[in-house]
Amino acid sequence: MTFQELHLIEPILKALGEEGYSTPTPIQAQAIPIVLKGTDLLGCAQTGTGKTAAFLLPIVNKIITEPHDENKINALIIVPTRELAIQIGDNMEGLGYFTNVSCIAVYGGGDGNSFTAEKTALTSGCDIVVCTPGRMIAHLNMGYVNLKEVKYLVLDEADRMLDMGFQDELMKIISFLAPTRQNLLFSATMPHKMRELARKLLTDPVEINI
Ligand code: AMP
Repeated sequence: MTFQELHLIEPILKALGEEGYSTPTPIQAQAIPIVLKGTDLLGCAQTGTGKTAAFLLPIVNKIITEPHDENKINALIIVPTRELAIQIGDNMEGLGYFTNVSCIAVYGGGDGNSFTAEKTALTSGCDIVVCTPGRMIAHLNMGYVNLKEVKYLVLDEADRMLDMGFQDELMKIISFLAPTRQNLLFSATMPHKMRELARKLLTDPVEINI
């Protein structure tokens, strides 16, 4: 299996070549066709399996190839920690360079300058926003963030977010989104409360286990 066979477009293949990625990992081989098709996904996978690219690559592919509003937030990725937000932002850097798809990581613990920079990006529009729940709520409470054009919602390490007590924050953020969107949920474990969240959020999801 190659990335070409997954029908990713040329600028993405170029970025993958630069990164030295030649073969999709099992989760990428399984998830990318599902995401490209537009189906909701429930992915049971640990960190280290290549799950970040499993959702970033097809989302970037879709942002480029499908009609979208360039000045609006197209994809929202919610993660439990600033470290993961930064890591996903870093993963997007090479991809963004080759595809012109913009991304900002929004997370707590920075200074006033980073809040202002986040506010500017969130107001003027950015294709992909990666965020921790608390920080996103802080921006949403100020009233300048429009999430109504979000077409792709990703919850990454969702079990950890539930363990950290973010359930209410997650539901509050999701209440700002339009109901028609594609939802991708990734979790290392599938306890009962995770299944409940999946049942609430996902529509006819395909489930993959790595
Ligand atoms: P993740 O599970 O997304 O945190 O990825 C784990 C590590 O694997 C990261 O360092 C990625 O850069 C790397 N990686 C992801 N996909 C591939 C691939 N197809 N080929 C080689 N390395 C990869």
